[in-house]
Amino acid sequence: MRNNRNNRQKQEEEETKDMKVINTDVAIVAGGPAGLAAAITIGERGLKSVILEKSSSTGGAANMGMGPLGIDTKIQKANFNDISVREALDLHMKYTHFNVDMDLVQAYFNKSADTIEWLEEMGVEFAGSFRYFKESAATWHIVKPENGVIGPRAASAMIKIMTERAKELGCDILLETPATGLIKEDEKVCGVKATDSTGEEIEVRAKAVIVATGGFGNNKEMVEEEFGLHLAEDFFPFMIPGITGDGLRMMWEAGAAKFGANIEAIYQLPDNLNWCLLDAVLRQPNLLINQFGERFMNEEYMGNTTYTGNAIHMQPGNYGYCIMDGAILREYKKNGPDIVDIVHPADAFLEFDGQAAQAVEQGYPYYYEADTVEELAEKLDIDPEVLQDTIDEYNEYCAAGVDKKFYKRQEFLHPITGKGKYLAGRFYLAAYGTVGGVRINKYGEVLDEDQYPIEGLYSAGSDANTIYGDSYNFTLPGNTMGFALNSGRMAGEGAADYIEDTAE
Ligand SMILES: Cc1cc2nc3c(=O)[nH]c(=O)nc-3n(C[C@H](O)[C@H](O)[C@H](O)COP(=O)(O)OP(=O)(O)OC[C@H]3O[C@@H](n4cnc5c(N)ncnc54)[C@H](O)[C@@H]3O)c2cc1C
Repeated sequence: MRNNRNNRQKQEEEETKDMKVINTDVAIVAGGPAGLAAAITIGERGLKSVILEKSSSTGGAANMGMGPLGIDTKIQKANFNDISVREALDLHMKYTHFNVDMDLVQAYFNKSADTIEWLEEMGVEFAGSFRYFKESAATWHIVKPENGVIGPRAASAMIKIMTERAKELGCDILLETPATGLIKEDEKVCGVKATDSTGEEIEVRAKAVIVATGGFGNNKEMVEEEFGLHLAEDFFPFMIPGITGDGLRMMWEAGAAKFGANIEAIYQLPDNLNWCLLDAVLRQPNLLINQFGERFMNEEYMGNTTYTGNAIHMQPGNYGYCIMDGAILREYKKNGPDIVDIVHPADAFLEFDGQAAQAVEQGYPYYYEADTVEELAEKLDIDPEVLQDTIDEYNEYCAAGVDKKFYKRQEFLHPITGKGKYLAGRFYLAAYGTVGGVRINKYGEVLDEDQYPIEGLYSAGSDANTIYGDSYNFTLPGNTMGFALNSGRMAGEGAADYIEDTAE
């Protein structure tokens, strides 16, 4: 592998008295999938770029993920699970009640098949196109993982290839170099200030700047201010180091409109990465109740993590208890679970007992076992009579095969008898991260309050992902990584066009 320095294009570097200044065509703030896609696009257009990346490696949150959305791809057609752009667009716009920029959505969806091929041409291999849960479309193009096992972190293989491709095309990637602000002169954004890996202040002067810092999922203050949620108290998202809203702050300071911030809602047990087997097993569509001991949704929809995250968000404390028992677990082990998905694989059921025993031994506070309803009520701090009534009523529905409250389908109605213990988990509202904060158009241009582009400023990825309205659309999975890659390309093309247009 060629060393980073040797691989650099000849950037014109000036040593001024106080500060190192690097001149390039496009300065890209951050090397997540959006920033890398932008850098490759810039390189393909024969222009130079510099990526300023805060972390010691590229890829951001995508290193933990599996793959991007693609619509109407050759892979889908080969797997007989194709969805057309027209169908996907129709579905998405109805889902969002047209509260999002349809032109931006169509540009993304229409580009997505080409982006999958673009990645393949670079050397990225895909394991196929998958659904997240049964009712979703098979838009999730999961990257063939280096170890051959489809699962979390598969997309890191794609990031490695993209990083190498960006370097080959002349992008200079400066790691451990957090950007600290944008430079704006004569109403044009023309550079970025940063602190380099030695702690020195530097400036990257450029003809255009693309910002893609992945939102603010790990910024306690911003999460509280924007959503009234409290990180690791009543909200347990994946807290990716470094994803702290830096780019949004910089763009707002440069005049960008504050627009459309939301969370990519899911639900999970706290400290999920250490208790993923419990999480995988207990999230089956059994009896889901709140702190008052009452059911609050039709559990058959629990496969859609956003629907369930939203329903949980409506409950006191932003959590719900999902209850099953040893008899149900035995059935799942024998016949497979009710809800099957790739993120929470059926294998987890076979290894559940070991992790459950460990949770009890270590006193993990979000998992409960009890021999009686009374004992369970005490552990959950719920009025035992209310809990008994809820379980009795639920069991009546199971016996009759009709859920008279929420009309959960009969196939999901398993009585909760406590045989082999009652088992419960406390699931909280969570998120993969935040989406939105600034508004872009289909050229990746960042818009001000009056929806005019700020000259020279582009954004992509989660910072600029405002296409879901109030709820992330999990029925088209791979959506945020898909948006990151495609909007990264769109911003790269937009910036390259701008540079060419203003060159004369
Ligand atoms: C566990 C997990 C699994 C996921 N799986 C999937 C999946 O399978 N499919 C899917 O569609 N989505 C998935 N996602 C979401 C997806 O990874 C993100 O939507 C995507 O990575 C966003 O890309 P991005 O480039 O906008 O930002 P990120 O990937 O978040 O990258 C942002 C980058 O900005 C850098 N940065 C931050 N501040 C600065 C600064 N001041 N200066 C320089 N650099 C800075 C960070 O270090 C980081 O490298 C998953 C997320 C998680 C957490």
